[in-house]
Amino acid sequence: MEQEIIPAEPVLQGDGPEARRRLLELRARAREAGLWGLGFPESVGGPGLPLADYLLIAEQEGRSEFGPSVLGGETVVDVRMLLAHGGPRLLDAYLQPLVDGELSVSFGMTEPGRPGSQPQAVSTHAAREGDGWSVIGRKWFISNAGFADCTVTMARTESGLSALLIPTSTPGYRKVRSLKVYGRDTGQWEIELDHVHVPGHLLLGREGDGLAVAGERMTLGRTLRSMHWLGAAQRAFDLMCRRLREREVHGGLLSERQLMREHVFLSYSAISAARELSLRAAGVLDRGLDGRVEVAAAKVAASRTASDVADRAVQVFGAEGLSDDQPLSAMARRLRTTRILDGPDEVHITSAAGRLLQTFATATTFDFTRSGTDRDHTLEATAP
Ligand SMILES: Cc1cc2nc3c(=O)[nH]c(=O)nc-3n(C[C@H](O)[C@H](O)[C@H](O)COP(=O)(O)OP(=O)(O)OC[C@H]3O[C@@H](n4cnc5c(N)ncnc54)[C@H](O)[C@@H]3O)c2cc1C
Repeated sequence: MEQEIIPAEPVLQGDGPEARRRLLELRARAREAGLWGLGFPESVGGPGLPLADYLLIAEQEGRSEFGPSVLGGETVVDVRMLLAHGGPRLLDAYLQPLVDGELSVSFGMTEPGRPGSQPQAVSTHAAREGDGWSVIGRKWFISNAGFADCTVTMARTESGLSALLIPTSTPGYRKVRSLKVYGRDTGQWEIELDHVHVPGHLLLGREGDGLAVAGERMTLGRTLRSMHWLGAAQRAFDLMCRRLREREVHGGLLSERQLMREHVFLSYSAISAARELSLRAAGVLDRGLDGRVEVAAAKVAASRTASDVADRAVQVFGAEGLSDDQPLSAMARRLRTTRILDGPDEVHITSAAGRLLQTFATATTFDFTRSGTDRDHTLEATAP
C-alpha cells in the first residue's frame, strides 16, 4: 500500500486509458508478489481464509481507494457470486479471467428516476427471445462501468427480478455518460440497454432469484467495504495525529489544544467500535448465520465513522486539507458517498431496528452475547 499503491494514486484517478494501464500493471505486480486475491476461496486457488481473518487484510487494502481494485478485494464479491450462482457454461467462460484479474465486472441495479433503495422498483425489462432474453432499460451510478467487461444487470423477467451477466460488448449496450460526483470523475456511469440479447446461460441463479443473488452479493460487499472504509479512516487518523504533533499555533503545538484532542479521542473510539462491529458481522457470516442486523450495524458505523474522521482531519489541516495537496479532500468527498451507496443509512437503520424489535415479540430482553439467527438456507431476498 505505502510503496506501490498510494504513490500511484494521482495516475489511478478517473477511468481514462492511462489509469487503466497503471491499474493492470499494479495488478500484475501484486500477483507476482503473491498479494493478489487473498480473499479468494481455495476452490479457485485462493488461501480460503475465513472472512473474519480476511477482513484484517481488507482493512489495509482500504487505506487507498484503489487498494481493493489492485489487490483483488473488489473481485472477491464477483468470484463468490459466480461460484455460487453461475452455471457450467458461464463459469467456463468468465471465472478464470476474473480470478486472474483480467476481467472486470460492474453491477447494475440503480436506475434514473427510480428509488435505488427499493430494488423492487427496477423497471429494466427482459423479454423472452430465443433461448434467452432481450433487455431494455437504463441504469445509472454504475461503478467502474467505464472499463468493465460485463455488467451484472438486474432485470424484470416473467418470474420476477433476475440477475443477468451482460458482456459490455453486446450490441445495444451503450455507455451514455460519466456521472461526476462532487464535480469529479470517480468512475460512475449511466448505461443504456437497447434490445440487448442475453443468452440463457448468462443467467445467475434461477429466473426470479435476482433479489436473492443481489442480496447475497451486497451482504458480503457491505461487510468488505465497511473494512475498506475503516482502513481509509485509519489513514486519515494517522495523517491527522502526525499533523497535530507538528503544527505550532499561538506559541504551542496543536496537539496541546483540548478541542484538537477531542478529534483524536472521538476518531479513535469510533474507529475501534466500528472495527468490532465489522469483525462481529464477518464472524456471523462465517458461521453461516443470518447477519442482516450485524451487517447493517457495521455498514452504518463504518460509513459514518470514515466520513467523520476524514472531515475532522480536513479541519485539522485547515485550508491545505481542502486542497489536492493532501489526499484528505478526495477521501472526505469519497467517504461521504458511503452513507448513500450500498443502501442509504436510513434503510439499514429502519430494517435492522425492525428486526431487533421483532425479537421482543417473544422475549422481554435482548441478549447481546448472541449474534445472528439461524439462516433459512433457501435463497431469500436479503436486499434491504
Ligand atoms: C458513489 C456511488 C456508487 C454507486 N455504485 C452503484 C453501483 O455500482 N451499482 C448500482 O446499482 N448502484 C450504485 N449506486 C447507487 C446506490 O446504490 C443508490 O444511490 C442507493 O441505493 C440509493 O438509491 P437512490 O440514490 O435512488 O436514492 P433514493 O432511493 O431515492 O433515496 C433517497 C434518500 O431517501 C432516504 N430514504 C430512502 N429510503 C428510506 C427509508 N426506507 N427510510 C428513510 N429514509 C429513506 C435516504 O436518505 C436516501 O438517501 C452508487 C451510488 C453512489 C453514490
